Amino acid sequence: MRTFDKSIKLDNVCYDVRGPVVDEADRMIANNIEILKLNIGNPAPFGFSAPESLIKDMMSNLINCQGYSDSKGLKDAREAIMKYSEKKNLPNVKVDDIYTGNGVSELITMSMQGLLNEGDEILIPSPDYPLWTGAANLAGGKPVHYICDEGSNWYPDIQDIEKKVNDKTKGIVVINPNNPTGALYPKAVLQKIVDIARKHELIIFADEIYDRLVMDGKEHVSIASLAPDLFCVTFNGLSKSHRIAGFRCGWMVLSGPKDRAKGYIEGLNMLSSMRLCANVPSQSIIKTAIEEYNSADELLAPGGRIYEQREFVYNAVNSIPGLSVVKPEGAFYMFPKIDVKKFNITSDEKFVLDFLREQKVLMVHGGGFNWREPDHFRIVYLPEVSQLKIAMDKLEVFLRGYRQ
Ligand code: PLP
Repeated sequence: MRTFDKSIKLDNVCYDVRGPVVDEADRMIANNIEILKLNIGNPAPFGFSAPESLIKDMMSNLINCQGYSDSKGLKDAREAIMKYSEKKNLPNVKVDDIYTGNGVSELITMSMQGLLNEGDEILIPSPDYPLWTGAANLAGGKPVHYICDEGSNWYPDIQDIEKKVNDKTKGIVVINPNNPTGALYPKAVLQKIVDIARKHELIIFADEIYDRLVMDGKEHVSIASLAPDLFCVTFNGLSKSHRIAGFRCGWMVLSGPKDRAKGYIEGLNMLSSMRLCANVPSQSIIKTAIEEYNSADELLAPGGRIYEQREFVYNAVNSIPGLSVVKPEGAFYMFPKIDVKKFNITSDEKFVLDFLREQKVLMVHGGGFNWREPDHFRIVYLPEVSQLKIAMDKLEVFLRGYRQ
């Protein structure tokens, strides 16, 4: 009998949503074991709901969204994205430079597919949102990871980036605010990345899906706004800021001198047409969503859920012997460090698997984010404080006796 094996290399494609730990969680759930999930950045299951205006808008638009749209997207959606791009000072953006997608995910894959030939290199942060590494691999390119430095608030290590650029390097990915560290990069750091990109003629890929989820009165700076002379691709969407991950709504904006990337843009147009278009009902609410771009502000201010949950987990983690964490300023993730000597840990994956089996709490190990040492894990702090307290108490109890 014929069998069918996968012909693509699936290593690292998207570890935070698949892999042995999630498989084990699925098995436990199938056996009616209740699990507290701190593993995916999906706000809706934790009681965050979309702004009502968006739901109403989609319901009333639905009747008019039965056909395909232009492959790049509805004009009024792209006009709204263009206005948002202007607000963020992205240079030289026209409606035609904007592509809507079924979430940022689809556009990440498309952007790598259109760029990388066999052997081409792309600089990606470590730790990263692993879809970037997966998409680069699937496109036939070579992801080269640059270090983000925990000792400097998890900012990208500029010297490490500089060291890793060579003739084959086509671009650099910057995830800001970052998943999994929650770091928000200051202008000075972004400026240094721009300088490297300028010197080596790299395309900047800016994943800014968390740009509206920033705390402590800080302001997000779009890296493309600092690079009017460089070709940049900026990604954003509504999954997180508007709590509608299930709607699959994202976009990608080309800025700067597009004449230098004609061939690449032709490829992107081709790939965009091949999938016909993004989900049209979702596109139909982009204009309303962008008018309410600050709809998460209340959640991020003191007293708001995301703010208070961050405070709780930050303090809880730092009070557990053997753990420490840098305070995140954006998104809803934390990337704590484990004292591997204290717990004799050699496998971070085994650590989260053991914790899952013993305490029924699901997290993702650092390796899932292309972090090479076995000394980190990610917490998604979306659940209510009462749930987070249970999880943190369990972690404390678990670690009290844990030795690998
Ligand atoms: N980029 C980053 C940094 C993310 O963390 C995520 C999802 O967690 C995505 C992109 C994908 O978002 P979307 O739901 O728009 O596909």
